[in-house]
Amino acid sequence: MPKILLVEDNEMNRDMLSRRLERKGYQVVLALDGQSGVEMAQSQTPDLVLMDMSLPVLDGWEATRRLKADAATQHIPVIALTAHAMSSDREKALEAGCDDYDTKPIELPRLLGKIEALLGGSEIASAGGLTP
Ligand code: MN
Repeated sequence: MPKILLVEDNEMNRDMLSRRLERKGYQVVLALDGQSGVEMAQSQTPDLVLMDMSLPVLDGWEATRRLKADAATQHIPVIALTAHAMSSDREKALEAGCDDYDTKPIELPRLLGKIEALLGGSEIASAGGLTP
């Protein structure tokens, strides 16, 4: 079961998204600010990080930069989540090292597609079930 670290300071978004991901079979661990997001990524070694960009203590861009600068966490895919559909935010997220980007309000099928694309082959291969 893939483990997703959700870094989100908004309680309503956090509760709703984590419940929906758990219903899809993901294990979800939570962090409420960018600093604890970085620490949780180090201690929990999730398979993927969903990173809100607007976060207290350390914003999502800086938290992602730190994850991508640390050999222990740089392989973990990060999907940036932001309320702004501005192309400058997308560029900023990719520059910070985010592997993909999605905008709020979350459309779960779209986000799941991005999650599955990034978890991709390795999860399926290690499960051993879907090899032709
Ligand atoms: Mn936020």
